Amino acid sequence: MSPREPRPLTVCAHCGQQKQCSRLILGKPVCGTCQLRFARTATTCPGCGGIKVLAFYDDHGRPACATCTGNKPRYACVRCGREDSPFGRRCGPCMLEQRAADLLTDPSGRIHPQLQPVFDTLMAGPRPQTTLYWFNRSTGPGILRAMAQGEIEITHAAFEAMASNKTVNYLRDFLVAVGVLPPFHAELERVTPWLNDILAGLPKDQADVLGRFARWHVLRRLRHQEQAGTATHGAISGARATIVATARFLTWLAAHDTNITTATQADLEQYAVEYRGRAPMVVAFLAWAGRTGLSSGIKLPTPAQQGQPEVTLADQDRWAQIELLLRDDTIRLYVRVAGLFTLLFAQPLARITRMRADQVTVNDDGHVTVTFDTVPIELPKSLALLVLAHLARRGQASYASSPDYWLFPGGIPGRHLVTENIRGQLVQRGIQPSTARMAAMFHLASEMPSAVLADILGRSPSNAGRWAALSAHDWSQYTAQRAASLTE
Ligand SMILES: [Zn+2]
Ligand SMILES: [Zn+2]
Ligand SMILES: [Zn+2]
Repeated sequence: MSPREPRPLTVCAHCGQQKQCSRLILGKPVCGTCQLRFARTATTCPGCGGIKVLAFYDDHGRPACATCTGNKPRYACVRCGREDSPFGRRCGPCMLEQRAADLLTDPSGRIHPQLQPVFDTLMAGPRPQTTLYWFNRSTGPGILRAMAQGEIEITHAAFEAMASNKTVNYLRDFLVAVGVLPPFHAELERVTPWLNDILAGLPKDQADVLGRFARWHVLRRLRHQEQAGTATHGAISGARATIVATARFLTWLAAHDTNITTATQADLEQYAVEYRGRAPMVVAFLAWAGRTGLSSGIKLPTPAQQGQPEVTLADQDRWAQIELLLRDDTIRLYVRVAGLFTLLFAQPLARITRMRADQVTVNDDGHVTVTFDTVPIELPKSLALLVLAHLARRGQASYASSPDYWLFPGGIPGRHLVTENIRGQLVQRGIQPSTARMAAMFHLASEMPSAVLADILGRSPSNAGRWAALSAHDWSQYTAQRAASLTE
């Protein structure tokens, strides 16, 4: 029958309405809507044991699948034959595979090599129908298609050029989570537009100087800190404060009929007298201006040279804090683990929050080691138990966020926790992370040779050597396992 000819109306055996019923289910005519609903009810076939749509009677009068009853397999995926996940003429997985491949194909007809992890992640998702729904409803897939076609670059810069909205941000997080884009730092990203606003409010000559200083010195330094994992909230606020102080200083110079090139040492001393509090914040700018030949080399007197590292937390207090974190169940588990990494191994919080789960190893003999840099350090038993409990309890992130990646996953897909989250909770319990870290460093320096210490601390050996010298120990023999005795 041609589809154009109106079919006679029949009573649908399922819904009872007068409809065009072109199919039979279990020998009775049903309408198109009921037939679609029935196609999603695959269950175990008594004949073959497969998960099938049982629309026919077998010789024993039982509902059975098409194959077992000699019928045409009209509920089967035309590509792979499965009947348990219908999505039009194909099954969900086959449809998803085709749609994802279409979406991510580059002009040469293959999946864009950079986007292969996206394809793999989409295919590994638990429910193809959900992903197919996303394909149809979101504008995100359109961006992916344009990236595959080479119309949009696969870079953070491309995302920055787009209007920031939930879809764009989600897609960006997703690409970071699957490793297509390198990690990025949202707070850091916001510094550039903020700087541009400040520059727009300054006269051109001041904006030029401040813009160069900010981009070539302040922001560059932040990027380095980002790579080292130390671009904390504090570091970013400090950078902003430096930029604001410099802008004010340039305005002050202009108000005194001078600028950074013509200013004299006397001008600078006057500024230091008028603005005692602000003056130290332009030291970096003055040093930069001197180095780049922009100024005549005028300088503020530098603050007193830093002396030896100062340890203010007595060892006894440090052990009390370690005890607190080991025993107190009212403190969140991840805060206890992170705090103990600081108190026992002198790890900065910024580095702890960026740890990956695979830095923790459970060995065959049941011992747990953590590799902060390259040397695996065996954890004391009580801490090992906390770490294992934390690993077991870590939130199960959505499939798009590589759930196993971060040791301390944050609330946003693909991101780790922010340091302030942990810092705030430690401070509430009377633990100052930076002081605690100093104390731990001092202790470790007395326990370890400087090379191992340098590895744990991620610092240059000479710096670690300074610590070792300070604690009056220098070790020639050491095994990393020594750390195991710390709290046993
Ligand atoms: Zn019906
Ligand atoms: Zn069957
Ligand atoms: Zn299929």
